Amino acid sequence: MVTNVSTEVRTRGQGDTKDLTREVAQAVTRSGAVAGVATVFVVGSTAGVTTIEFEPGAVADLDRAFERIAPRDAEYAHHLRWGDDNGSSHVRAAMLGPSLTVPFADGRLLLGTWQQVVLVEFDTGPRTRQVVIQVMGE
Ligand code: ZN
Repeated sequence: MVTNVSTEVRTRGQGDTKDLTREVAQAVTRSGAVAGVATVFVVGSTAGVTTIEFEPGAVADLDRAFERIAPRDAEYAHHLRWGDDNGSSHVRAAMLGPSLTVPFADGRLLLGTWQQVVLVEFDTGPRTRQVVIQVMGE
């Protein structure tokens, strides 16, 4: 059985990180499935999905790591091609990836206690993100 839930998430711009764990758990519960996988996918090429211990220090550390890897103020070919300002956003999003699969059993996500499912905004301004949660199970 497969169910799809689509939810909107508002973000404040680059580095803003949103905890989606409750939404994913609810999608699993509403699916009625006991065991399977939940895939979380963000639509768009300038955001990503991963897990982290969702506390301000770890979130800031991740943001700093991305700033070292793909600095916001560096030169990007993307800027020259489109007149865009979000070359760093595309690179960061491509590296993190747009989706995550979480297994569940007995109707519960098999996450660690300090492991939350998060959306990471990489675009340079506020965005409204569409997140698809697809549950496959029985
Ligand atoms: Zn762009």
